[in-house]
Amino acid sequence: MTAPTPGGRVLIVDDNADLAGTLRDVLLSASTESDPLEVDVADSGKGALARARETGFDVALVDVKLPDASGVDLIRPLREASPNSEIVLITGFASMEAAIAALRAGAFAMILKSFRPDELVTTVRQALTKARLQREREELERRYRAVVDLTDVLVLALDAADRVVLFNRKAAELAGVSAESAIGRDFVRAWIPEDDRVRLNDALAVARQSKRGTSEVETGFVATGGQARRIRWHLGGTVDPGEGELVYGIGIDVTERRALEKRAADAEALSAMGTLALNLAHEIRNPLNAAKLQLHLLARDVGKLEMEETRASLLKRSEIVGDEIARLNRLLTEFLELARPRGIAREPVHVSELVDSVLSLEREAAEARGVRIVRDFAPGAAAIGDAEKLRQVVLNLVVNALEAMKDGGVLTARTFPENDRIVFAIEDTGPGIDTSVLTQVFDPFFTTKEAGTGLGLSIVRKIVDQHGGDVRLESAIGKGTTVRVWIPTGR
Ligand code: ADP
Ligand code: MG
Repeated sequence: MTAPTPGGRVLIVDDNADLAGTLRDVLLSASTESDPLEVDVADSGKGALARARETGFDVALVDVKLPDASGVDLIRPLREASPNSEIVLITGFASMEAAIAALRAGAFAMILKSFRPDELVTTVRQALTKARLQREREELERRYRAVVDLTDVLVLALDAADRVVLFNRKAAELAGVSAESAIGRDFVRAWIPEDDRVRLNDALAVARQSKRGTSEVETGFVATGGQARRIRWHLGGTVDPGEGELVYGIGIDVTERRALEKRAADAEALSAMGTLALNLAHEIRNPLNAAKLQLHLLARDVGKLEMEETRASLLKRSEIVGDEIARLNRLLTEFLELARPRGIAREPVHVSELVDSVLSLEREAAEARGVRIVRDFAPGAAAIGDAEKLRQVVLNLVVNALEAMKDGGVLTARTFPENDRIVFAIEDTGPGIDTSVLTQVFDPFFTTKEAGTGLGLSIVRKIVDQHGGDVRLESAIGKGTTVRVWIPTGR
């Protein structure tokens, strides 16, 4: 912090040249090298305002009676023109009412024309100190705000009723609101998922309990677009003289860190299952294929039965068994895809063409559901990777989008370049994904569908990882879901 600069600029506003001269002489004679005073004179209200705007001042000595204005009326415009300044009024004779009116209007003090020199100097020095302290306070506040806004962590303060008193830029960005509009909102209800509220409230209570107490807690945070972030909070309670009891919170966004930890754990779990599970999956496939064949033969024989009713009901059953076998087969295929450690090809892949061909393949399925397909392809460099695997990624995403739109909707497929990566996005207008399960959709075997395998998105993530790419899912309840995939172009 800079040391307070003593001294200051004084503006005398008086049409009486003699009095203005005297005031000036008194002040200049009190000026010292370590505490210098600069004095300027204006002889009208208009002149004073012009001076205030051009050069500013710290303290103005203003005659109550000016040819073009009343000194009292000048107080406010002068202080606006030169912020952090003080006004001392000069009057011929002071009545109590005039003095009170002047102070109400924001004057620092009122002195009589019959002043004693030392009295004048003392008053001006006091007014200068007040103006300086105000300036310093503003500067400090500005710096502290800059630090709070620049930092990459969330900084906030809550009052005793959990209402937001301070919300920094990072918090506002993540929440998708302006910092101003966050003020006064109930923080816990607005941004903390229901499941985490009790834990956060407990941690807040600990921080509040012992005024200077601190606590830590990790919670979800509902970010823009319904995204679920994980935030590690460090909470501390204080008593602010202005605001009463406050809890300050510093929040670190640990979403990516937790996701990485989880992915590492998933990968480990998969490789631990490893060979054994792979062999088992292969072993299941043979009897399954044999069962499928036998079922086919069985159905053919049943078809020859004479009794109409029995035949129909037996055929229906064999159809169900067939569907179940098909589902098991799909599960095995997807599981093998996920668990098999196999390298990927590295060749140029034209992503728009790839997406286009998957969409053509799924055209009938889309039509059957009343889904309209929109293509929005921007030209870009080829991705480097494995065309077959990337096709699998697109297919899994398109199938999910179609399955989400039971009553029709719009599927938008976009491709566009972004720096040295190519992006493709599959958007649907389905029901969206509940925030309570949003973090689980990439988990192997997580499904909300009756006949789902829960492996589609796990496979997507694995393949994207193998390409050194990135996949993100955003969802809004009632609006739809967008999955974006970034694949490097190798440039
Ligand atoms: P599956 O499709 O077999 O259920 P996935 O891994 O492909 O397995 O998807 C897991 C779950 O994620 C789905 O069951 C569904 O609840 C959710 N999900 C995935 N994509 C979407 C989407 N576009 N819209 C809504 N929910 C989706
Ligand atoms: Mg799926």
